[in-house]
Order: sequence, then structure tokens, then C-alpha cells
Amino acid sequence: MIKFYPLLLALALASCAHKGAGRAAETAAAGETVAAVHVPDFQADSAYRFVDEQVAFGPRVPNTPAHKACGDFLAATLKRFGAQVYVQQMTLTAYNGTKLDCRNIIGSYKPAARKRVLLFAHWDSRPYADNDSDPKEQRKPIDGADDGASGVGVLLEMARLMDKQAPDVGVDILFTDAEDYGVPSFSSQRDDDNSWCLGTQFWARNPHTPNYHAQYGILLDMVGAKNATFYKEYTSQAQAPSLVEKIWDTARNLGYGNFFIDADGGSIVDDHLYVISGRGIPCVDIINYAPDNKRGFADYWHTHADNMQIISRETLKAVGQTLLNVIYKER
Ligand SMILES: [Zn+2]
Repeated sequence: MIKFYPLLLALALASCAHKGAGRAAETAAAGETVAAVHVPDFQADSAYRFVDEQVAFGPRVPNTPAHKACGDFLAATLKRFGAQVYVQQMTLTAYNGTKLDCRNIIGSYKPAARKRVLLFAHWDSRPYADNDSDPKEQRKPIDGADDGASGVGVLLEMARLMDKQAPDVGVDILFTDAEDYGVPSFSSQRDDDNSWCLGTQFWARNPHTPNYHAQYGILLDMVGAKNATFYKEYTSQAQAPSLVEKIWDTARNLGYGNFFIDADGGSIVDDHLYVISGRGIPCVDIINYAPDNKRGFADYWHTHADNMQIISRETLKAVGQTLLNVIYKER
């Protein structure tokens, strides 16, 4: 994705942007002992293949054959892995007025379970490489191996594992569309942030089941690059503080403290904002953040360097195994 705000500005934004987000539903701090639980072993090779398969379709830009084919593949794969699949067909309007033929794709495990966790990632990829240094390249779509495909790849591997052994809680995997169709930097149009996350904005107003609620949500965005660093994002900490701690503690205990950094990140405009404000579900955004980079993200972000060459099995494993440990320990 998108855009980050340094902390000071974030404070001002947070007060207006996230009204109505519920903290009450957040997980209680776990002090009690629970019986030993078998947590599946996340297969990095399998996740890597899922990332590669998406990229092989070509850029997943709405209104293109590659986008259509990849969406079909995602729905079919969730179905193959035993999920109850919902497909939300929708026409969304981009910043420039283009009508986008889009789908949110949802796979539910244990759809009747009351206690639910929402896992989400965007499956579209950016139509522009507006951060590319070569101006001639900026209007071409990117592969989006990390920005898009990595989060979906991790969740597909989790779906494969949940099919074999379901966790106690219900899990909904939500692949959101048109996250990355926001105002490009070469446009003279003002970006008020709402040009991003279009699929999630739609879902938050029209969830796939009436009155959908989950105990919490975890968003994955750019979770597959070599040497990625995940900082504690501002809104996540404000709205889901104990979940942030649980995820980062779990990662550290598994030996992934080099990925999950115990430090504050900036405030990021991403799909989680709309799930928090629209559905009152506390959410955490796990996103590769580069505090020393003036844009807040790594150099490949929204450039043609966001391709399979930057994808690392180690990073996918760190994120996927951490999530599995969090989810399978829920009771
Ligand atoms: Zn992006």
C-alpha cells in the first residue's frame, strides 16, 4: 500500500478517522494456562508458490484478463481448501472516474462459530509504478509480488493447513480488491486517502454476511520481502493494543524478533482503517515499514522492483508461523 504519516500528524488524524472503533471486543490478556495445542507447521515453499502463481497471471489490475483469471484462481483455491466461499461482485469508481469491475473474495472456516477472527489482504496490484525512478516506466502496472501477492500467499497457505486441521475459532479470510488504485503521484489530483482501499470500503458497508463481526482482524500487506521489518503501526496500537503485543510477543518467542521489531511505526492508510471504523473490529496491520526511508516503505514500493526477486521464504515463514501460533491458541 499506500502512504504513511509521521507520528505527529498521525495523532491528529487518529482522532477523527477512527471514531466508533470498538476496543471492548479485544482479546483479554491471556494469563491462564491452556492445554498444549498442536500448531501446524507453515510451509514456506508452499506459500512462495502461491505468491508466484498470482504474479504469473500478470499484474492484477481491475478490468484486465489477468485480474479476472487470478480472482477465479483465488476463489477456486479457497474452495479446494474446504472454505465456504463468498464472492462479492461490485463496480467501484476509481479516483479518475474509471468504473472498476471488482470482487472481494471471502473464505470462511467454521462459519457457524461465534468467536471469529478476520484475516485479510488485498489481492489487486497497483496499476502504476509511480515511485519508479524512470518517468517512462511510471504508468505501467507493477508485478506486486510483495504489495498484494505476498499477503494473499500467506493466507492461502494458512487455508491449506486449516483444511487439514481447523483451529478452535472461526476464521474468515478476506481478499480485498482495488486497494491499490489510489491517486498516483504523477496526477495533479488531490489525494484525500479515500481513493485507496475501495474494495474494503465496500465490504465494510456491505459485509458478506449480515452484521458480520469478528473478535479482531489482522491485515497482511507487504509481508514477503527479504529482510522485511514490521513495526507496531500507530492505529493498530491505538485500537488493538493487546493484540499487537500478542502478535509481537508470539513472533519473538518463535525467534522472529528480527522481523517483528519492538518499536513504534508510523500511521498507515490501509485496509484496516475501514474495517475498524466501518465494522468496529479492532485490527492490526502487519506491514513492511522502513522508518529511515522518507516514504516510510522500502525502496521497491510502487516500483517495478516489486517482483519475485525480492520475495523471501524466510519472511513468509516468519509471518505465517506467527499467525498460526496466534490463531491456533485462541479458544
Ligand atoms: Zn501498494
